[in-house]
Amino acid sequence: MNPWLRITVSSWWPISCLVKCPKLFCVSSKSQASIIKRQRQICIGCFSVQHRLTHVAQPQRRICAGPLLSVREFHTSQPRFAGPLAVLLLKLAGPFSKGIKLAAVVGGRSLRKSWRKLSRHQRLHWSRRLAVLLGGFGGICVGFYFFHLEETPVTNRVRFMPISHKQMQELAEREHRNLLEAWAPHILPAHHPDHLRVFVIAKRLFKANQSKEMENLSWQVIVVDTEEMNAFVLPNGQIFMFTGMLKVLHNADSLAVVLGHEMAHVVLQHAAEKISLHGFINMFLVISCALVWAVLPSDLLAIGAQWLQNMILAILLHLPYSRKLEEEADEVGMNMAAKACFDVRESPKLWRQLALSKKTDEEAESPTWLSTHPTHNDRADKLEGLLPKALKIRENCKCPPLSPDE
Ligand SMILES: [Zn+2]
Repeated sequence: MNPWLRITVSSWWPISCLVKCPKLFCVSSKSQASIIKRQRQICIGCFSVQHRLTHVAQPQRRICAGPLLSVREFHTSQPRFAGPLAVLLLKLAGPFSKGIKLAAVVGGRSLRKSWRKLSRHQRLHWSRRLAVLLGGFGGICVGFYFFHLEETPVTNRVRFMPISHKQMQELAEREHRNLLEAWAPHILPAHHPDHLRVFVIAKRLFKANQSKEMENLSWQVIVVDTEEMNAFVLPNGQIFMFTGMLKVLHNADSLAVVLGHEMAHVVLQHAAEKISLHGFINMFLVISCALVWAVLPSDLLAIGAQWLQNMILAILLHLPYSRKLEEEADEVGMNMAAKACFDVRESPKLWRQLALSKKTDEEAESPTWLSTHPTHNDRADKLEGLLPKALKIRENCKCPPLSPDE
């Protein structure tokens, strides 16, 4: 029997998928590049076909039966208008910002030279004009900020989000293509046991956590055969899992916890949130950069002031914010795993195990305040505290009882 055919008739591919997805049968003879392309078509097609069938057949069905006491329903955010300021923020959050900051340095420096040539009266005159200009700009920014506040799905946290879903999807698609190209020789085929292992768990999580946020994306699992101990997700639902990470995930429950975490990042639109904040802060940084170089008497002082400003921003804003999003994804991801009836007690256990393995590694963990992620032990402590709530969700979903914890 054709090996691909054998794979497709095994239990992990739903029958509806086999019927609707004939491309499953024509992958094996293609080149590596076209296999990857095909796999992508297959996975997207099958995920969405299967999901659509479930959704149409049982539109009112709750995957999780019973009263959802502490489980908040997913809801969709209001569509956002992708205005020119949002486009500017996107640019300012990317590598383009370096060019703008350099222009601000050059502009500030030449302003300093021109400023020295001005008389006292002229300086007073321009200071007033500059103050009005900055005040007006500040007012627009404050208005823009409050106009683009919204609640996160699931956790109902208020956040700044001017970037539209479409803009993020375009960015993610571009990144996805680049990553597929870069890792092409290491991407495992769809019939590989490691790929199947991840796919089965992802599908179970997906089915148990249906929502508009989940439905609007092209979920796909890509397993990369490298020793890297990592997993990440793109905002369009492309989950990248490395075999180095799979080696430390000894059972389906721990894998579900990791995949739940990645899926939570997508559902909560964390990437768009981070880009929004970075872009917004960079907008002010460009102005402050020009002012620092214009006002301070020497280049050395300006460089020092700018370095200090960047450090303060990173330590007091960017890093704590990133850690907060990680903790939120941990919590939501664990609840997603609970809804899919996985043993969520594995979640804190996994982080304790990773903390122990770090201690034996040469590379030690950075202190929390200097890291984008909480330390493994901090994560384990936090998840232990959230465990009763996740277990309650699991119970409400009428999942089979868990064996007593040893
Ligand atoms: Zn994460």
